[in-house]
Amino acid sequence: MVSSYLFLIMKLLDGKALSQTIFEELKSKLLQTVSKGNKVPHLVAILVGNDGASETYVASKVKSCQQIGVKSTMLRYPAECCEEMLLEKIQELNENKDIDGILVQLPLPKQINPEKVKEAILPEKDVDGFHPVNIGKMVKNLPCFLPATPYGILLLLEKYNIETSGKHCVVVGRSDIVGMPMSILLGRKNYPGNCTVTLCHSATVGLDDYIRSADILIAALGKPQFVKGEMIKEGAVVIDVGITRLPSVQTKSGFKLFGDVNFEEVAPKCSFITPVPGGVGPMTIAALLINTVKAAEYLK
Ligand code: NDP
Repeated sequence: MVSSYLFLIMKLLDGKALSQTIFEELKSKLLQTVSKGNKVPHLVAILVGNDGASETYVASKVKSCQQIGVKSTMLRYPAECCEEMLLEKIQELNENKDIDGILVQLPLPKQINPEKVKEAILPEKDVDGFHPVNIGKMVKNLPCFLPATPYGILLLLEKYNIETSGKHCVVVGRSDIVGMPMSILLGRKNYPGNCTVTLCHSATVGLDDYIRSADILIAALGKPQFVKGEMIKEGAVVIDVGITRLPSVQTKSGFKLFGDVNFEEVAPKCSFITPVPGGVGPMTIAALLINTVKAAEYLK
């Protein structure tokens, strides 16, 4: 009875709608700025290899750039591309004054060290927020490019006025690009933030109990439908970062996207939840575009 009542008041955190609003705002800001004679911001996206998911992500980033009036260039390299060549290209892009933002789509083939690639991009052009300088500034609460996925999640929490101060936030997954920065951002003395954060990973003992104690759950482990209804506290806020593409006969593309949360079971118990797709994914792109427009120094 209680659960079905909560289902009625459960709200979807609509990342797709919010990202469209952000795109419109960026577009109109750029129209104004460029009409005064300023240059069009330029993002370069580098894709190495032919991973299907990476192709889709880069294509939607490029499409979103076009939508708001940011120039984008996609550079493709074969899976056998060597590290040295990629680093040289990044160096060239760093020196090119026309280019404001550079992103290298992860994961990279085994022969390329992703840490070297992240460090090669100038921090001022690192719109993905992965450079150690940007990570360090994030930890110190200094102005910097925030990593796009956690930044997108903060924007979503803010838009829906979700109370975060003093809440217990459980982040499952500690990757450099999602879980680790998310845990830091939600622990900072800011809004959204000021949470008491528990960071869980594959060696966590008693994971279900931690999840059950979460007022805010960030599921970023990459295991489809891992989080079940029985693991959720009534009224929790659930952010599902996971995106796993699995073969499906139900869709035209032959693939279906799954989050890390079993939506049908979890949604009736929570106060807010992100759908997959349409939740964190579009917000990651919106955050990337904010960073790109900032890199061109058109936003504070
Ligand atoms: P990684 O594989 O880099 O990290 C996964 C993390 O989850 C690791 O810290 C790992 O622990 C932890 N983990 C794995 N299995 C378990 C388990 N059974 N119990 C507890 N912890 C576990 O993944 P990413 O952070 O890059 O991505 C996570 C998910 O988010 C993926 O589905 C990815 O596709 C998606 N994603 C979505 C984005 C979006 O825009 N919506 C953007 C980026 C990612 P350990 O460290 O011990 O190995």
